[in-house]
Amino acid sequence: MKLHEHQAKALFRSFDIPVPEGRLVKTGEDALKAAHELKGPPWVVKAQVHAGGRGKGGGVRVVQSPEEAAEAAESILGRPLVTPQTGPEGKPVRRVLVEEGVEIEQELYLAMVVDRESAAPVMIFSREGGMEIEEVAAGTPERVLKQVVLPETGWMPFCGRNLVYRLDPLPAPDTLKALTATMAGLYRAFVEMDCSLAEINPLVVTTTGRVLAVDAKVNIDDNALFRQKKLASMDDPSEKDPLERKAGQFNLNYIRLDGNIGAMVNGAGLAMATMDVIKMAGAEPANFLDVGGGASEEMITRGFEIILEDPKVKAILINIFGGILRCDVLARGVLAAAEKTAIRVPLIVRLEGTNVDEGRRILESSDLEFLVAKDISEAAAMVTRQVSPTQGPGPGNRPTDRRP
Ligand code: GDP
Ligand code: MN
Repeated sequence: MKLHEHQAKALFRSFDIPVPEGRLVKTGEDALKAAHELKGPPWVVKAQVHAGGRGKGGGVRVVQSPEEAAEAAESILGRPLVTPQTGPEGKPVRRVLVEEGVEIEQELYLAMVVDRESAAPVMIFSREGGMEIEEVAAGTPERVLKQVVLPETGWMPFCGRNLVYRLDPLPAPDTLKALTATMAGLYRAFVEMDCSLAEINPLVVTTTGRVLAVDAKVNIDDNALFRQKKLASMDDPSEKDPLERKAGQFNLNYIRLDGNIGAMVNGAGLAMATMDVIKMAGAEPANFLDVGGGASEEMITRGFEIILEDPKVKAILINIFGGILRCDVLARGVLAAAEKTAIRVPLIVRLEGTNVDEGRRILESSDLEFLVAKDISEAAAMVTRQVSPTQGPGPGNRPTDRRP
């Protein structure tokens, strides 16, 4: 679950991470009022959407008067914000954050993540924070510093020292202290809020030597929401993809992707493997969908409807290894969905496991048109042929692979 910047900053404050004063507003008029109440110039007006790169897309404006703050707010609120992370259609902006602006001396990068390689929480720190951090990380990775934090010991003061004493030139002692204190606070925030990511970019050193989190990005591990009730209540469903939102209502693990092959699979591992196979066959998955081991007929129906609602989908691959989920339940769920929604794309089915004969019989005795694949690589090849009958790099499209 993602938090908005203004939510993350309010939480950061309670972990002693210094953040600018700000007000959340919905209109230009309220932005004007907010700017009058806050210290400035400058003031900063920031779009509140769940997407990064707002600065590059015109969603962050540094202004010199309250009137300009009002204008900036109105223009940001008036249209969808397009950033490198939103796609060309952009995201509607419902609220903007008006903040006291600061004079920036240096933009640093600071984040906590769970690092797979070291299997531990890792703090990431760079003196080259700001909007180009991705380019810095790609071109000069040695400028991105990492410090593993052992879960057994938690944050230790040396962790912070290891990072800040690699700054050259070394900041003033008070700034160093403020930096290590912010690092300790970020680690505490990360652990206590069950974050999968807590990022401050930029972490600013002002011209007066203050350290300030000018941006805040926090993702909460969904699996921890049951014990993070306060955070769960901060969820903003309007920011989610409508199909993902719908899937969430039915407890389906669905993530929308960019390709055109819809996939319905049981088990996260099999779902990932299926996506790999689709890619290896030269196509791209339109979604990740794990209907889960104990999926009911209703969940299958809903999952199938959600896949069909995505206009990008050109073929659907059902890959079920029936263990706890029985193949007959799957078949009935698919038929129930087919009755409600016209299926306008080819359907490829690979079924194995519990009650597989019954499942096949149900599908075969229906009016539904579908292709049966005997294994997963054949299924992927069939899918690719449906989408690009004459070309494509996948093995399924080479003439020698075609079956009579
Ligand atoms: P993002 O682009 O979505 O990550 O939004 P940020 O909150 O990081 O803002 C983008 C950029 O705006 C920052 O990297 C800063 O350069 C600039 N910015 C943000 N707040 C201030 C401020 O108070 N003063 C000044 N001068 N620049 C700011
Ligand atoms: Mn940022």
